[in-house]
Amino acid sequence: MNIHEYQAKEILRSFGVPTGKGSPAFNVDEAVKAAEGQPGPVWVVKAQIHAGGRGKGGGVKVVKSIADVRTEAQRMLGMTLVTHQTGPAGKQVNRLYIEEGTAIARELYLSLLVDRATSRIAFIVSTEGGMNIEEVAHKTPEKIATIHVDPATGLCPHHVRAMSKALKLDAAQTKQMSKLATGLYNGFIDKDMSLLEVNPLVITTDGNLVCLDAKMNFDGNALFRHPDVMALRDETEEDPKEIEASKHDLSYVALDGSIGCMVNGAGLAMATMDIIKLYGAEPANFLDIGGGATKERVTAAFKIITADPKVKGILINIFGGIAKCDVIAEGVIAAVRDVGLKVPLVVRLEGTNVDLGKKIIKESGLNVIPADDLNDAAKKIVKAVKEAA
Ligand code: ADP
Ligand code: MG
Repeated sequence: MNIHEYQAKEILRSFGVPTGKGSPAFNVDEAVKAAEGQPGPVWVVKAQIHAGGRGKGGGVKVVKSIADVRTEAQRMLGMTLVTHQTGPAGKQVNRLYIEEGTAIARELYLSLLVDRATSRIAFIVSTEGGMNIEEVAHKTPEKIATIHVDPATGLCPHHVRAMSKALKLDAAQTKQMSKLATGLYNGFIDKDMSLLEVNPLVITTDGNLVCLDAKMNFDGNALFRHPDVMALRDETEEDPKEIEASKHDLSYVALDGSIGCMVNGAGLAMATMDIIKLYGAEPANFLDIGGGATKERVTAAFKIITADPKVKGILINIFGGIAKCDVIAEGVIAAVRDVGLKVPLVVRLEGTNVDLGKKIIKESGLNVIPADDLNDAAKKIVKAVKEAA
C-alpha cells in the first residue's frame, strides 16, 4: 500500500527525521490558509498523488507570494497530472501539500528497501539526487552506492560512515546523518515498510540535512498490525478492480495486455502469464483465486476480469486440489450467466473431479472452448483473440 508525501513526512517526523514544515490542503482556501501559517518568503505547492515525477509534470511549484499559492492551488486541484510514473492516463489531483520553501545547496538521493537477495535492508544512496535519478541509475550506476544492514544487528556506526562517505558529507553533516538514518531505519522496521524513498534528501544552504520528498510503500501482508497506517489509505488512488478483488481475498494485479487470466496458485498464475507471452500475446492481469476457491469467489473474479475493457479473451486455468473442478465449473457457469460473455473463453481444468467439471461445462451449452493442458489452452486463447480482432 502507498500513502501520500504529506502523510509519509508526518511518519518521518514521528521518528525524529527532519522534514520541511507543511500542511495538507483539500481546497484552494485551505491551501491559502496553510501558506499564511508559514513564515515565507518562499512556499512550495505540491500535488499529492501516488506517483513520483511530479516536478517534471508541473505538480511541484516554488512560489514567492500567497497570491501565487492561490493561483497554483487553483491550477493544480482537479487537474490530471501526467508523470513518467502515472502512465499516459495520469492521475487526478485531489489534495495538495503546502510546504515552506527550503534553500537547497545539494540534492542527494537516499532510499531503503528490502533486499531479497541478501535478506537485508538496503540503503541506496547517491550524490546525484533530484529529478533525474532514473537517468543516473542508467548512465552512471557507479554514482549509486548500496549499504546493506543486517536486521539482526541493526544500523551500526560503520553503515552511517559508509553512507556519509558516498554522499560526501562533512563531519557535522555525518552527525546529522547518524540521527537521520537511525530514524529512517527505525521507521522502516517499525511500520513494516517495503520501500522508503527520500529524493531529494537535501543539504540546505545552512549545511543541514532535510528530507524534501518522501515516498513510502508498506508490506500489505503486515498491514493488519498497523491500523494507523491503514487509516491513511486513499482508495481514490487505487485501481477500483484491485480494491474489489481485495474484498474477495483475490490476489489481483491489473496489467496492460488483452488476455484476462483466472488461475489458482501464484506459481500457476505466473506460468500462465509466461505461456501467453510465449504465444505472442500479453496478459491483462495477474489473478490468483487461491486454493480454497468457492463459487462466489470465482464469480467475483470473473466479474472483475470482464469489467476490464482491455480484455479481449479469457483464459481460466485451474488445477483442482482443495478447490474441486466441479465447483469451479459451476462458478464459471454461474458467472457467465450473470455477466454474459462477449469475448472468447478458454477453460482448462485438471485435478480433483476433473471429469465432472468438464462434463458440467460441456452440458451447460455455453460457448466455452475446452482445453486439455496449459500449452493447448494458451495456444487456443491467443488464436481466438487474434481471430476475433
Ligand atoms: P517529485 O519527485 O514527484 O518530482 P519532489 O518532492 O521531489 O517531487 O519535488 C521535485 C523538486 O522540487 C525537488 O527535487 C526539489 O528540487 C524541489 N522541491 C520540492 N520541495 C521543495 C521545497 N520544500 N523547497 C524547495 N524546493 C523543493
Ligand atoms: Mg522526488
